[in-house]
Amino acid sequence: MSGFELKLDELRIEGASRAGDRTWFRVHPPGLAFDTGRGALALTGAEHVFLSHGHLDHALGLPFVLSNRTMQELAPTRVYCPAPMVDEIHDFVVAAARLERESYVYELAGLEPGDRVDVGRDLVVEAFAVEHGVPALGFHLLRRRKRLLAEHRGRPGPELAELRRRGVELEERGEEVWVTYCGDTGRSIFDREPRLFDAEVLLLECTFLAPADGDRAAEFGHLHLRDLERCAERFANRAIVLHHLTRRHSLDELRLAVTERLPGLAERVHLVP
Ligand SMILES: [Zn+2]
Repeated sequence: MSGFELKLDELRIEGASRAGDRTWFRVHPPGLAFDTGRGALALTGAEHVFLSHGHLDHALGLPFVLSNRTMQELAPTRVYCPAPMVDEIHDFVVAAARLERESYVYELAGLEPGDRVDVGRDLVVEAFAVEHGVPALGFHLLRRRKRLLAEHRGRPGPELAELRRRGVELEERGEEVWVTYCGDTGRSIFDREPRLFDAEVLLLECTFLAPADGDRAAEFGHLHLRDLERCAERFANRAIVLHHLTRRHSLDELRLAVTERLPGLAERVHLVP
């Protein structure tokens, strides 16, 4: 499987995703991992690892990442997962380490919706609730930035310089949603977490396409393309990365469906091979 890469200004995202196979993304900066798939060498550099839920196509790779990082004597890995599954993840990692006669260097912490983790200079990850039938979270990567106050936007540079010289306050410190990763989720996410519509880059699962699969999507807590159609005009993102497609459809089928059914979004949609 060839990898996925998206570059947008200073942001770079790589990953791989298919339902029931593997899902992981690495986001640079700061180089963090959202999920671990079944393990990938590209995740070895990730000091911060955020697990969205315990399904093995997302979480099986965690011991593999910890093993590689420990072997290469990298900084202790900081692993975060939904709070209700901390014990299971702990047991899982301990069993893997025993199997290898190793002792992995890592810290594990459970997160509740709303919890925040500093992951770099001016970068914070915030967890939010999703709907998936098992303990599950989505994550926002937030960026703190200085920006011009609204009343000064559009002023020419020399005028701003003059104001600055006079000591006028020109900027405020704001926080923007840079990347949102929803993990696996049902459609209630669009009401629960409307900030996802404003993320610069949105990593959104889109598992099902066929009309017959509408009930299946609702039953298993996944998104169907028609769920995206229903709120198509709300997506203000610069890039929307659709992932976690069922293996019963090809990427070409998804591309065609997006072009036909989400014409206003198609130009901004990227697919993960
Ligand atoms: Zn899942």
